[in-house]
Amino acid sequence: MSTSRLQLSRRAHRIAKAEIRTMTVECERVGGVNLAQGVCDMAVPKPVLEGVRKALVEGVNSYTRHDGLAVLREAIAHKMEEFNGITANPENEIVVSGGSTGALYCACLALLDAEDEVIVFEPYYGYHINTLLAVDAVPTFVRMSPPDWSFSKEDLERALTPRTKAIIVNTPGNPTGKVYAADELGVIADFATNNDLFIFTDEIYEYFVYGHHRHVSPATIDGVRDRTITISGYSKTFSITGWRIGYAVCDARWAEMIGYVNDLVYVCAAAPLQVGVAEGIRALDDRYYRDLRSSFDEKRQLICDALHNAGFVFTKPQGAYYILADASHVPGESSKERAMYLLEKTGVAAVPGEAFFADRSGESLLRFCYAKEDDELRRACDRLGMLGP
Ligand code: PMP
Repeated sequence: MSTSRLQLSRRAHRIAKAEIRTMTVECERVGGVNLAQGVCDMAVPKPVLEGVRKALVEGVNSYTRHDGLAVLREAIAHKMEEFNGITANPENEIVVSGGSTGALYCACLALLDAEDEVIVFEPYYGYHINTLLAVDAVPTFVRMSPPDWSFSKEDLERALTPRTKAIIVNTPGNPTGKVYAADELGVIADFATNNDLFIFTDEIYEYFVYGHHRHVSPATIDGVRDRTITISGYSKTFSITGWRIGYAVCDARWAEMIGYVNDLVYVCAAAPLQVGVAEGIRALDDRYYRDLRSSFDEKRQLICDALHNAGFVFTKPQGAYYILADASHVPGESSKERAMYLLEKTGVAAVPGEAFFADRSGESLLRFCYAKEDDELRRACDRLGMLGP
């Protein structure tokens, strides 16, 4: 055994490398269509770009206040009130951070201790797990059951221990596309209240909700506003994943320390980009969000038909822009092998299902992302036909 001090931390060994990147590299190798990664290739809305341009010309280049520019915090407060139904004081209850990923990381650093347990719904979004591991917290799991990814109060209670401090909700969810209904959130809210837990909610796909489904923010459920950290951002809504603008909204008691941690890790989010997002929130009306929803709804229809015709079994997603489909008919011993077979045979890259489970349960599953320009999505759909029924 090596005795050198030049070693990775024990923590580093727990944090697994994201499998999604691996499929992207493989996809590039064969010149395929990448439905693995959640990248939005849509146009950035004009007022957002115009806001950044103006900010650059006018010299908005310095550090901003650690929790974000007033103009952006105020825009977010307005949006939270109008869209989410959450009243938040822009002065001390909103922290702008490096994407929603940064906001969750800062919230975890501010509110969790080493060994604290956090309940995560499975299948999960891998970053949630690795963020918990990065702060030495311990994820515990509540397995949701297909086809509708349901769970019960008893499932939650089984995951509870004296060390449980929080529960993470992701609605609309990645990878399932599940939009949590108000009564499900009621069960989670009662559970959190009865056991005195924080609720972290990741609502990055809040505008991507289809059919009769409606986005409900967990913080709006009676009695849990003060224990809920609502996290979201504009990566997806404005197609600016590389800009890294997200935020946490919560009671001032928590926001203050989340803000200090944000200062420590990021100092602030990029100043001119904050102005652009503020301008987008201010200038875009309902029509923008409606059009966004309907264009993604069409994409959802396209990919659902193609996957169905190619023999995949799945529930039509209610929100976000992913489909977690059963791929048992695709040859392979593991989801990784199935993903590789699909890529070689059709040129379409998907994410192996095991990326979303702590054990090997995702072996027969593949996740497809449909946040693609129509032409590319159509190309992927045609290619899926090469798999045959
Ligand atoms: N949360 C979820 C559930 C996601 O799927 C993603 C993107 N893959 C993110 C957060 C990342 O958001 P951001 O760019 O705001 O960090």
